[in-house]
Amino acid sequence: MFRKQLTIFHVGEIPIRLDLSWFLILLLFSWSLATHFFPLEYRGLHTSTYWFMGIAAALLLFTSVLLHELGHSLVGRHFGIKIRGITLFIFGGVADMAEEPYSPKAEFLMAVAGPLVSAVLAVVFWLIAKGVVLFRLPLVFYGIAEYLSLANTFLLIFNLLPGFPLDGGRVVRAALWKAMGSLTRSTRIASAIGRGLGITIALLGLVSLFFGGQISGIWLVLIGLFLRRAAEASYQNLYIRSGLEGLRIKDFMTPRLVSIPAEISLAVAVQEFFLRHPYHIYPVVQEGHVVGFIEDKIVKTISSDQWQAKSVLDVTTTDPFKSAVNPDDDAVKALVTMAQNGVGRVPVVSEGQLVGIISRRDIMEMIRIRMALTK
Ligand SMILES: [Zn+2]
Repeated sequence: MFRKQLTIFHVGEIPIRLDLSWFLILLLFSWSLATHFFPLEYRGLHTSTYWFMGIAAALLLFTSVLLHELGHSLVGRHFGIKIRGITLFIFGGVADMAEEPYSPKAEFLMAVAGPLVSAVLAVVFWLIAKGVVLFRLPLVFYGIAEYLSLANTFLLIFNLLPGFPLDGGRVVRAALWKAMGSLTRSTRIASAIGRGLGITIALLGLVSLFFGGQISGIWLVLIGLFLRRAAEASYQNLYIRSGLEGLRIKDFMTPRLVSIPAEISLAVAVQEFFLRHPYHIYPVVQEGHVVGFIEDKIVKTISSDQWQAKSVLDVTTTDPFKSAVNPDDDAVKALVTMAQNGVGRVPVVSEGQLVGIISRRDIMEMIRIRMALTK
């Protein structure tokens, strides 16, 4: 969710991004098409022709995936759901919705829009392939069009599998939601089905590997594991969003009153602070101002016979300031900031002053309490 991405262009206001893994997969796809699929299907062509076919087909396949995702996004936008962007990554595309659909009907229509686009593309490429034969155009174009017709058909079928968060799984969730009236409960069931489906696909992949289907086996295992993870992540995402709805950081940050003077030695800091309070990180104060932070993990990297000679200021860092959040920020912002910086807690700063600390553990505890009482 929080990896390196590149925005390539916008459709309307929707930014289209590439995950860095996309370049790797484009290369792998082109390679496997140019060296395996096309040479087996169309014998006797030049190596460079196969590579042209491979690269063109891979690029058009990713374009097809993008159009599929745009189908979802445009229907979503029609229903007033904010779309933050579309990211193309290792297994296709993901439309990043800022929120969940408002009704089972919106969910259903949004879910089927993507597969509908894939179905249209499959037919269009099939017609192009027929046209190539009819007008006696080079075989190369027939090969590319036929492959894309097949690939879009595969995308259509794969996405209609009933495992959430695949489109078919979203249809299932829409139906459960309509029947039970609870988005959280229907998401929990739909994502459990998604996890089960993911594990089943991965196991099929292992069986296929065992019987000699190397490439298809590896693909199935990867797709299965990916689906399992995505099912878990989408449920957690909903769980966190609904658990934190309406909360601001100041609602559950810990106001921090204990700070360490910059001039004392590390030995004193350890004795008087780290061994006495249950905190990992302290603001460091010099002449009444916070100048940075001292963390137990940094103290631990210095051998204890030097603690007498070194002062707190010597190991003070200003790093946590960079990931500081504001007390009026949305609570989800704190979790996002922690994930982006790979830390478990971030300082809360208002108008240049440290006003508290917020930790992932506190946020998760809050979510548990709220979800238990409001289910
Ligand atoms: Zn889809």
